Amino acid sequence: MQGLVIKSTGSWYQVHAKDGVDYDCRIKGKFRIQGIQTTNPIAVGDQVEFELEPNSDKGVIDKLHERKNYIIRKSINLSKQAQIIAANMDQAFLVVTLASPRTSLGFIDRFLATAEAYDIPAVLIFNKLDLFHEEGLAILDEYKSIYENIGYPCYSVSALEGTNIPLIESLLKDKTTLFSGHSGVGKSSLINALLPGREIKTGEISESSDKGQHTTTFAEMHTLPFGGYLIDTPGIRELGIFDIRPEELGHYFREMRALMNQCRFNNCRHVNEPGCAVIKGVEEGEIELSRYESYLSIYNGNETRA
Ligand code: GDP
Ligand code: ZN
Repeated sequence: MQGLVIKSTGSWYQVHAKDGVDYDCRIKGKFRIQGIQTTNPIAVGDQVEFELEPNSDKGVIDKLHERKNYIIRKSINLSKQAQIIAANMDQAFLVVTLASPRTSLGFIDRFLATAEAYDIPAVLIFNKLDLFHEEGLAILDEYKSIYENIGYPCYSVSALEGTNIPLIESLLKDKTTLFSGHSGVGKSSLINALLPGREIKTGEISESSDKGQHTTTFAEMHTLPFGGYLIDTPGIRELGIFDIRPEELGHYFREMRALMNQCRFNNCRHVNEPGCAVIKGVEEGEIELSRYESYLSIYNGNETRA
């Protein structure tokens, strides 16, 4: 039978089969992904084939369908291995806020570069709109325009008051969407607003991860009542840029990518080279300084955390 993996614990997988039933499955044999070693070969979003064990309602996954994309992160325990977080996404939403705890631009830029690297369209959701008034709203618009100017859609919402939730629903409808965001931005509140009757505990993730308890580090997939799937990543602080080589990084900043071919040297790192079109673009205001600073920070391996 064919099915969609909607939950993974690392050893068990919940598979939503074509017949509409969810089956608990385990994996048979080895699944390899070219070039990377993984601790979990199958992730939410994967399409798999499975067979039921004799006289049982449990299944065995024996085939993985080709993925259109996937995201990985470094395994926390085994540094040389990767963990697949999710597969087959249509888009990735980053929930951010300019209210406390404010999301840093560096954090946003690392997420966007990661999404570019994995070829997943990214959208920014600015939450806690209810906390902003005149001056605050103007600042919010300035931040949004940094990203809108380079083609990333930005939306303002209030999970608390329900502002613009129908708009977000229309963006999610019939698609598979990854939700990311650092703790405290209101990601759980937003997901609860989108999934009525399916309460995810809010305000508890950072607390439990501090104690190292009850934190699921695997993604969860929720079926949206209006069509589509939402992939939540509880306990995952950040999607890491993990397998990107420094010399490739400029490609994942799209406004830099647009200028790079005008650099004097074709192996330009855009750090301090003469005739660098990127540096010129920053000086002339074509590229936002904050974006370029994020590039340099990632390039230099700075782990600036939000
Ligand atoms: P998460 O850690 O990103 O999942 O965030 P939570 O959903 O747990 O929310 C963190 C805190 O922000 C809680 O105290 C929420 O009540 C609050 N919060 C979430 N969304 C909003 C919002 O739209 N407006 C305001 N004012 N507070 C919010
Ligand atoms: Zn350059």
